[in-house]
Amino acid sequence: MSRTVYVNGAYLPEEEATVSIFDRGFLMADGVYEVTSVLGGKLIDFAGHAVRLARSLNELDMQAPCTNDELLAIHRELVTRNDLIDGMIYLQVTRGNPGDRDFAFPDPATTKPTLVLFTQSKPGMADSPLAQTGIKVISIEDIRWGRRDIKTVQLLYPSMGKMMAKKAGVDDAWLVEDGHVTEGTSNNAYIVKNGRIITRQLSSDILHGITRAAVLRFATEAQMEVEERPFTIAEAQEADEAFITSASAFVMPVVEIDGAVLGNGTPGPVAKRLREIYLEESRKTAI
Ligand code: PMP
Repeated sequence: MSRTVYVNGAYLPEEEATVSIFDRGFLMADGVYEVTSVLGGKLIDFAGHAVRLARSLNELDMQAPCTNDELLAIHRELVTRNDLIDGMIYLQVTRGNPGDRDFAFPDPATTKPTLVLFTQSKPGMADSPLAQTGIKVISIEDIRWGRRDIKTVQLLYPSMGKMMAKKAGVDDAWLVEDGHVTEGTSNNAYIVKNGRIITRQLSSDILHGITRAAVLRFATEAQMEVEERPFTIAEAQEADEAFITSASAFVMPVVEIDGAVLGNGTPGPVAKRLREIYLEESRKTAI
């Protein structure tokens, strides 16, 4: 069945939704995005995603397409129109269609941003069987640009990284720069040693994950120790546990890194506990 999607003020069947070939999102990857999870028909951490979207837009001198209240209303309308129970809402804002191709940014007075949202249904996504087995990762060099804190639609290298992982017979790749892990292709990366949770500190080297912020807050509230610093692949291979976080994977255990099996090769207690707490608390505050 066809989805109802949102494009620049209109709710349309997906087959009828179009964006110009001159759109700067298409020509220049001049756009930013957010992915908000939906569990039980409710939005998880919408406020966090709205704040990060505003920051991404601001860093790129891009206009906001509408207010946060309007964005929330669109998200909710899409959930309703598509009977979405569990899944995601993808949102993209681009610098719009200036009617021609030019490197210089168009005048925002005459070129309005493009706003697109659509739903992706994933029934039972919180009960992913992968969370029971854990995932395997390889490491690859991080050759992305230097503003990874801005959530742009420039996802070619992360996409290539996923393909390298697939080719190697594993689930994902961790990106390594100057000998230290930055993050996963589409998630933040963590290790656990002697009960202490270690993850890279925020900077322009990584995306400031909305799930990361929530998980670290819950970990601290649960009296777990958190250390924000870079770590190497060798350190990760010697860790007791590892995991990743993202809006769509929540907390996902990692059981193998570049062929080295962590612990007994099954999800560790810290990752399992954090996944439980995250899902429980997020459902409570979902809107
Ligand atoms: N890092 C990168 C590179 C990502 O693409 C994502 C997911 N979009 C994340 C981290 C996790 O961020 P979030 O928890 O907000 O989904």
